[in-house]
Amino acid sequence: MRSCGALVTGLAFAVASGSAAQAPTFTRADTLRGSNTPERAWWDAAFYDLHVRVNPADSSIVGRNTITYRILRPAREMQIDLQQPLVVDSIVQDGAELSVRREGNVLFVRLLSVQRVGARKSVSVYYRGKPTVALRAPWDGGFVWARDSLGNDWIATANQGLGASVWWPNKDIYSDEPDSQRVAITVPDPIVNVSNGRLRGTRRNGDGTTTYEWFVTSPINNYNVAVNAGRYAHFSDVLQGEKGRLTLDYWPLEYNLDTARKQFQQTKPVLRCFETWFGPYPWYADGFKLVETPHLGMEHQSAIAYGNHYLNGYRGRDRSETGRGLEWDFIIVHEAAHEWWGNNVTMSDAADMWIHESFADYAEGLYTECQQGKRAGAEYIIGKRAGISNDRPIVGLYGLNYEGSGDMYNKGGNILHTIRQLVNDDGRWRRVLRGINSTFARQAVSGKQIEEYMSRNTRLDLSKVFDQYLRTTMVPVLEYRIEGSTLSYRWANVVPGFDMPVKVTLSPGTFRFIQPIESWLTSPIRLERPEDFRVDPNFYVLSRDILTPAPDSTAGASASR
Ligand SMILES: [Zn+2]
Repeated sequence: MRSCGALVTGLAFAVASGSAAQAPTFTRADTLRGSNTPERAWWDAAFYDLHVRVNPADSSIVGRNTITYRILRPAREMQIDLQQPLVVDSIVQDGAELSVRREGNVLFVRLLSVQRVGARKSVSVYYRGKPTVALRAPWDGGFVWARDSLGNDWIATANQGLGASVWWPNKDIYSDEPDSQRVAITVPDPIVNVSNGRLRGTRRNGDGTTTYEWFVTSPINNYNVAVNAGRYAHFSDVLQGEKGRLTLDYWPLEYNLDTARKQFQQTKPVLRCFETWFGPYPWYADGFKLVETPHLGMEHQSAIAYGNHYLNGYRGRDRSETGRGLEWDFIIVHEAAHEWWGNNVTMSDAADMWIHESFADYAEGLYTECQQGKRAGAEYIIGKRAGISNDRPIVGLYGLNYEGSGDMYNKGGNILHTIRQLVNDDGRWRRVLRGINSTFARQAVSGKQIEEYMSRNTRLDLSKVFDQYLRTTMVPVLEYRIEGSTLSYRWANVVPGFDMPVKVTLSPGTFRFIQPIESWLTSPIRLERPEDFRVDPNFYVLSRDILTPAPDSTAGASASR
């Protein structure tokens, strides 16, 4: 999702934390946006047929979306989301114009035709206006009206969090994706529009504009549907992947063509690595694309927004501070990971956004491992602990479109890295990651479903691990003392019943598992000097020698800022 996980902690988060310090307050608008209301629950989106004309001259759009849906339950009123200040011209079903009751960003449409359960029907929403302008895309959301360095129009949309209804009418909830979608975008010549899926046709309209008709054959998150319009060049490549021939299409600005040809060579090894760990790329039919955008990036399905300035790292910086992250382009790696985590397996509620971001963050470490070796991958993930704030839980609030802490990135990656240590079997770990992608392919799921799948398939009861790390801000502390050849240990700062095993040095030079609980246990230990005792730094925990209350006796796995 937000490509930028990184910055979310800095930017968007600064906004959220002000209100998060006190209890956040929610309104009916939050419930209408974030929950499966009765006016949403009765219909299932089957196809969005979206047509939008984009006018950079006055930053306006005019368009229509014909929504084809399956009727699950009888109903007379339909909720369609369309954010202000966009206005509706008309809503039409079966040739009749329907009346609409507007409540803020929501349209409650009064249906005239009988909605027969099991049937499919369509309704067309005609609309226009000047959509919200994104000033800090991709962190705020809306339309980006930019110019390239030659002064050509360069337009993009980014609306994760804020919602796709900022520029087109739809059921703006994560849990309902259409089975397929047309995205037909009209832009003034000579700029070219690149959206999701494959280009089915271009039509010159004879009025100085051209319509680019893109089509996505797979279910797609509404926030992934995007306009990207500019003076693009185009080049292609092919990856022989797990499921055969995968087309790779690249759309850099014309004047960045040579630079892009070089930088985008990184794509193939990234996709190969992720296919190994996560299973086949999910969208062979729709292809893989990178499209240069004026904003940093976003995981727009089969048309990833790329704005990392052809630099390695995150805008040229390594977010792990280990140097490992300077060997690859953050936006290519992080956003490509979202094709599995977020686009293929989608959260059903924003509260569970860790399904997208924790796994995408973890994928950065896995790519580092594919490229530079297992130790380097671990170093990268451990290095990112410095970015953990433990300000509030990773899981947000349900039914309100309310995300949890930005810790869903750095901490989330470290939770998964810790679980991998518990599994202690890379073959099984890989089968679990691939299994999530095949079991929940093209589905919207809850965090609980992922947690239960992981417990079942790692053959470990991870419930307390998830409770601790996802739903509290406490970092487990291994309290210990060494007296002669006896190690005493217990968990502190943990949820009741927390019993996660952890590896420590019971003898010089090797890590072995112990199984601490909240009360003291003992184990034989063979160390020449008690100060040689270590906790395996791959575990995201703290440790404290209670006989030596030094100011900082944390193990290498410290969570210090
Ligand atoms: Zn992300």
